[in-house]
Formats: sequence, structure tokens, C-alpha cells
Amino acid sequence: MGYDFVSIEKKWQKRWEKEGTFNVEKDSSREKFYCLEMFPYPSGALHMGHLRNYSIGDMLSRHLLMRGKNVLHPMGYDAFGLPAENAAIKFSTHPNKWTWDNIEHMTDQLKRMGCSYDWRRRVETCNPNYYRWTQWLFLQFFKRGLAYRKTAPVNWCESCGTVLANEQVINDGHCWRCSTPVVKKNLEQWFLRITDYAQELLDSLDDLPGWPERVKLMQRNWIGRSEGVRLSFKLEGLQTDIETFTTRVDTIFGVTFLALSPEHPAVEEIAALSPEGARIRKFAAECMDSSERDRTAAGGEKKGIDTGLVAVNPANGEKVPVWIANYILMEYGTGAIMGVPAHDQRDFDFAKKFKIPVRPVITPPGQNILDGESMTVAYEDDGIQCNSGKFDGLSTSEALPAMTEWFAENGWGKREINFRLRDWLISRQRYWGAPIPVIYCDKCGVVPVPEEDLPVELPLEIEMKPGENPLAGADNWKKARCPRCGSEGTRETDTMDTFICSSWYFLRFASPWTEDAPFEKDDTDYWMSVNQYIGGIEHACLHLIYARFFTKFLADLGMLKVREPFRNLLTQGMVIKDGAKMSKSKGNVVDPDEIISRWGADTARLFILFASPPEKDLDWSDQGVEGSHRFLQRVWRLVETNLEGLKKTSSDTVPMSAITENRCRDLKRRIHYTIDRVTRDIQDEKQFNTAVARLMELSNTLGAFSPKSPAEWSLFREGVDTLLVCLTPIAPHICEELWEITGKTTLISLEEWPVIESEALVADTVTIVFQVNGKVREQFELPAGMDPEEMKKEILSRPEVKSRLEGKEILRVIPVPDRLVNVVVKNR
Ligand SMILES: [Zn+2]
Ligand SMILES: [Zn+2]
Repeated sequence: MGYDFVSIEKKWQKRWEKEGTFNVEKDSSREKFYCLEMFPYPSGALHMGHLRNYSIGDMLSRHLLMRGKNVLHPMGYDAFGLPAENAAIKFSTHPNKWTWDNIEHMTDQLKRMGCSYDWRRRVETCNPNYYRWTQWLFLQFFKRGLAYRKTAPVNWCESCGTVLANEQVINDGHCWRCSTPVVKKNLEQWFLRITDYAQELLDSLDDLPGWPERVKLMQRNWIGRSEGVRLSFKLEGLQTDIETFTTRVDTIFGVTFLALSPEHPAVEEIAALSPEGARIRKFAAECMDSSERDRTAAGGEKKGIDTGLVAVNPANGEKVPVWIANYILMEYGTGAIMGVPAHDQRDFDFAKKFKIPVRPVITPPGQNILDGESMTVAYEDDGIQCNSGKFDGLSTSEALPAMTEWFAENGWGKREINFRLRDWLISRQRYWGAPIPVIYCDKCGVVPVPEEDLPVELPLEIEMKPGENPLAGADNWKKARCPRCGSEGTRETDTMDTFICSSWYFLRFASPWTEDAPFEKDDTDYWMSVNQYIGGIEHACLHLIYARFFTKFLADLGMLKVREPFRNLLTQGMVIKDGAKMSKSKGNVVDPDEIISRWGADTARLFILFASPPEKDLDWSDQGVEGSHRFLQRVWRLVETNLEGLKKTSSDTVPMSAITENRCRDLKRRIHYTIDRVTRDIQDEKQFNTAVARLMELSNTLGAFSPKSPAEWSLFREGVDTLLVCLTPIAPHICEELWEITGKTTLISLEEWPVIESEALVADTVTIVFQVNGKVREQFELPAGMDPEEMKKEILSRPEVKSRLEGKEILRVIPVPDRLVNVVVKNR
């Protein structure tokens, strides 16, 4: 019999499925462990990144199951989204059909990997039984004023034909999905008030020691808390004051202009007052058409227009010109800034271009006052105040509180905490998403769909056309009675951002069958939070912030006990090949199906876990895959060649105290050392690659052992059992098969993780003789099997040895392992 992985893998997958081996129920008598990998978008086929993510999660789940935990390990599909619409147009199919076909295909693929999911709990976000609750959650936000509509300059992706949330504008102003530069449009849209949670989202990052620092830092920066002063400038001739926010009120005497964002609501009023009105309007419109990236890139071209109006600096009564500038964005701060070219680089670039004066008010420590005329860059660091009236001579750290206080006393401004985080824009002008459950009525305005009428189902009879929202043309579907007055209204045709669907799916896994709530509190009280979450770092400021926000909101509704969804987070590295990320355009894609067909799922899993620590990039190597396969072949042969003896030997173990022979004591020690290290590598260090390496070592030791007596067979059997049990989370199919072949009737997947015999970990000692020129001088007890160099160092460090060698010239030191150290000294 050879290692026939094809039939072995099929056989055990069937058996696990039939017996419901990994089905799980809540059980308050047992400690739970919730292990979750970020669920995939059903794009059609798994890629290597998926395979890596799920191999890591499956290894952990299986390991903890064997450690006696009640493990929840579910899988589902993030199934709404634009690719389904694009595919539908391209292949003349329906997004619904395309998505469900993909879901079934990818489920088959995942089953071929041998993952230990409780498949009964599968959720699909495009299933009406799921998105009904997504809509219900929207209504809860709406009821509490946390979902609202407003007109705002929003991010628009021309290629996707929809608006985007700020978090979805990445890499300097590009669409997260299709990389098209994003432009601004003024549109009325739906938002969720995530900013209400900004402070808590920031503070509770400190309660997440199990998250990578890098992810927490990215979230902190994204939330972007800053303390400063909100102050208003009076514009001559204008009714309303212009508000600005600054974290550097200490530079107020350096203000030489005021600049407004082209989207600023006062622009129209200013245009009406100004003789340059037409030019101002034209300029503002042009700015809004260009991408955020072009407008804000450091060193990007600064554009502006002088409105001809002047503003009054409250600190000194000085009149400064009012400009409209392309680099000011409406959604950060107040959409207007006090221009301090001497101490802000972008203001400096702007001032230089438009010949606006530069007035330094901060002097670098230990230097002369700067000269605005000759400065070539802004000075943005701390220093000593100058040109600042009564504040001259103060350091930045003294000036900031003093000047803030002075502003407050005079009523010019107030201390304010500001966040970079903006409310979450959640409406999308797309079809394949959860419809926003509201109806517009001419009499009643915006009316929520009553909860009992949910779900508002997506109409399936629609016509897909490029660049259009089919819902907008679905006239029959759009017509709806107003729930409040009964007159004819119109449904909202925007659907929800798919990131809403994924903001609560981890809760649905706890109660996937519940029909009268999104989840049962009993279930989530038991299962939440997720003990280990595994996914890509690209979600740091997207899904991982949104899911935290939802969890906090649901906790505030009393629906959840926890306020954080994910206790521990592991962000796995990418899978690369030939030095680059796998991609079709580079032609370096390895297809998981092909690997599994050719080498088996166990080999694929083993290679993925062995080739690299999980958080590092994994360099795909065909030789590495072959090497992993050879290791499994060796394990197979180890059992095969010793099968008769193994079958005759029971699995009862012999304690260390009953073992006398040295080679047996060594093997016993190796077995328990392996258990100890593999357990720690997996659990504490998440260094699965070294865990695999230690199992390879144990396999080698066993291969060289050749048992002879019944006592040796007993020990050998302990070694083989240990190897198979510890290898199961990594390569489960082959371990099940070998377990069965050696006479076991139970599933190894449900076997208990081996217990360490602490006595077996203690190293034996041997007597080491210390000689000088071949004559015995001292004796020491040292651990057996010490490395010769280590032994030499240890002996030479002993005080007795030092005193015997004092004043002597050492010619050579000869260590003989487990026996002696001889020092040759020069004879006088
Ligand atoms: Zn796009
Ligand atoms: Zn009405």
C-alpha cells in the first residue's frame, strides 16, 4: 500500500461530514474558543491567499479542539458587491446566479482542503434570511438618529459608478476596488454616525493587547484625534463668520491669508459679493472635478483664486486676504484654514506661488529669528515665539496653553477635540447589495419600512446595463405604499455598502438559524468575542473599524455583552512567487485546485504552514511543496514499515522512571520535548513553521530508532502516536488514515492533545572529569548530551577550575562529550 492521498482525503472528508465531527453547540460546562477567518467574497475560485488564511485558522481550531476547547469554527460568504454585476454584464448572466454558483463551487473547494468548519452554520450575506437583518440593523441606527441623509461632497468612482466611503479611498485618492482616481461630487447620501464612537474606538484600542501594533497604529492615525482651537474669522461684508480649526494656535500671529475649500458653503455667498463672482464659481467647479489625490498630494500643484474679500484676524485685528484654494478639503476640519505659510509647508507653497507674505512667529531653538523673504521651506517644529505680542519668548509648549486660554477668555475661539474620522457614507448606487429599507413619501418625507415588512427583497427581474443602477429603472419595484399615510411613495433605490454586511456576520454565526432576530443574546453571550481572528492587513481601516463600531452600537442597544468583536488578531502575510504578489497580469499565479489535485490538501497545508511564519510573506516554491510531500511520504513509510510491531503494541505509555536504557531515555525525552515545544509554538508564539520543524525532527528520531524489545516497541508506539496526534491539525487526512491503520477505532481529529510528562523533560546528568595535562583534578555533574563547546565553556567558568589554571599558559582545551575536559598547559 502506498500513500494514496486522493482516496484518503476523500474518504476522511466524507466521514467527517457524515458524522458531523466539527459540528458544535454551546455548552456552558466547557470553555469555548471562537476561531474565525475573514470570510471570502465569492469571486469564483479560491486563491492562494485564501488557502493560507484558512490553513492557519484550521490548524488553530483543530489544535484547540484537541486541547478540549468547545471550538466554533464557521465559514460563510461576503456575497454582495459589484463584481457580480460586472460579471453578469460580461457573461450575460444574473448576479444572483453568478454569486450562488460561485458559493457552491468555493464550498466544494474548501471541503477539499479538509477544513474543520461547522458547515451547518454557513451564512451568505446575499441571502434574504441574512440581509433582512442587515436591513433591521440599519433601522436601529435610523431610529436612534445614527443613520441620516445629507448633501455633502462625496467620493465618486466613475468606473464603479457609485460613491465610496472615505475608508474606501486608498493609496492617495484611489478607489479601493478598482484603483480609479476618485473625484468629488455633491450628492445627497446616507451616512452612519460612526463619529459618535470616535473616542471609544480610539481608547479601547488599548484594551486589545492581542492585536498587532501596526494595525492599532493605522486605526489611531485613521481616527486621527487632535486637540486644538476652533476660531472664527469675520469677513467684511459677509453675514456668517468663517470657522477654522487649528492645532497650532501659537502661530496665529503668522496668519497672512485665509483659505476656503471650493466646496465650502460660503463660497456661493462670497461669489455673489465679489466682482470676480463668475471666475470664483468656475474655479470652484473645476477643483471639484479633479481627484482628491491631485488636490492634496504633497508637492502637488497649488491652485487658488483671490476673492477680493478680507478677513479679520481676531488676535491682532489685522486684515488678511481671503482665497479659495484647491488643497483645502471640506471634510477635514471645517473646510477653511488660517494660512500660516512660515510654519506649514502647504501654506508656504501656496503663499510663494501667489506672492502672499510669509511671517515667521516661531524661532528654531538657539537660532536667530527667521526671515520670511529668504525662507525656502516652512519651519514646522517647536521653538520660541516671536512677532507674537505679549507671548514673545515663550516656548511652544508654554505658548499653546497660554494662547488657547487667551482665546477662550476673549471669546474668539474655544478648545476643541477634532477627529479625522468622518461619518461613514453607506449608500451605493448599485444593484447587488441590501436595499436601504426606506420609502420616500411626498407627504411624510423619509419613512422607514416597518420591521415586520422586512426584508425589502431585491427584485430579480431586472435589466443589467453598464454604468446604471438597475433598481432606478425597476419601476414596479420602486412603487410602494407609504407605511405612514398609505399614499403612493417610492422606494430608496440605493443599496448598502457591502461593508455593512460584513460588520456583523461574526454574530450571525452564533445563531445562524434564528428567524426572529439577527442573533440570540444567549448565543453571543457564550460565543463572543472572537478569540482569534485571522485576515489580511488591508482591512485595518475598513472592515476592522466598521466591525468594532457595530459591536459597540449593539452593546449600547443591550444586544451584546462585549464591546470589542475580536480579542486577538493575526494578519497573515501575502503569498508571493518570484518576488512578487501572485497576480494574473504577472503570470505567477498558482492555482490551489491544481496543487491539491497534484499533491493533496495535506501537502498544501503543510507547505503553507512550514514555509514561513504566518505574519510574514510566504514565498511560493515548487521545491518546497515537493519537500513537504516527501515528509508526508516518510511519515507514511515510518508507519508502514513498522506496522506489524505497532499493531501488536498497545498505546499504554511507560513513565520515564521505569526506563533505564539511555537510548530509550533519549527517545522518551525527545517525544515530550516535541509535545512541549509544538504546543508552545502553536499557542503562544503562533510560529507554526517551527512547530512543523520539530515534528520533522521527531519523525527522523523515530526513523532511526528500530525498536527491538517489547519495552522499546511500547516507547516507539508512544512516539508514533505523538507524532500523528501533533501532526493532525496540520495534515489531518493522512493522520486519520495512519491512526486507523495502526488499529485505532476513534477519529484522531477528536483525540486529546498529548500530556507532557514533566519528568521526561528533565535532562539526565553525567559526571564530567576535569583534567590538566591528562591528570584528573576535579569532577562535575552536568546535563547529559551537552554540546562540546558548551561543556568546555561551562567547565572553564567554574571557580575551582579557574583557580587551578591561574597563571598557567593554556595551549589547548579538549572536550570529550559526556566524559571529560582536558586542558593542556605549557610546562614550566
Ligand atoms: Zn472603483
Ligand atoms: Zn406618507
